[in-house]
Amino acid sequence: MHEYSLVEALVRRVEEEAARRGATAIHAVRVSLGELSGVDPELFRTAWETFRAGTGCERAELALSPVAASWCCTACGAAIPRGAVLRCAACGAPGRLAERADALLLESVEMEVP
Ligand SMILES: [Zn+2]
Repeated sequence: MHEYSLVEALVRRVEEEAARRGATAIHAVRVSLGELSGVDPELFRTAWETFRAGTGCERAELALSPVAASWCCTACGAAIPRGAVLRCAACGAPGRLAERADALLLESVEMEVP
C-alpha cells in the first residue's frame, strides 16, 4: 500500500534526524498533508501505528495537519477561487497550485536532546 511506503520513508527520515542530533527520545512528529497529495489520512495514521512499533518513533505522537488545495497567480500572487479558470482575474497570468497542496511534508520533529 502507498501509505505504508510513505510512513516507512518518514520514520527513517525522523530516525536519521534524531541520530544526527543525538536525541534520546522522539516525542512528536508533525506532518502536513496536502489535499491533492493522494494520501488518505486514515490509512496513513493506521500505517503509522503499525509501522512505528520497534522504531525510534514508537512513542512519538503523529500530528497530521491537512493542507487544503488552493491556487494563486504566478505573477501577482492573487488567490484564484476553487473551480475557477486557472488564470488570474486581476492580471491574466496563469495560476498555479499553492505549495504543499499536493505534497506530504515533514514539518517538525519534537525530540529530547540531552
Ligand atoms: Zn495575477
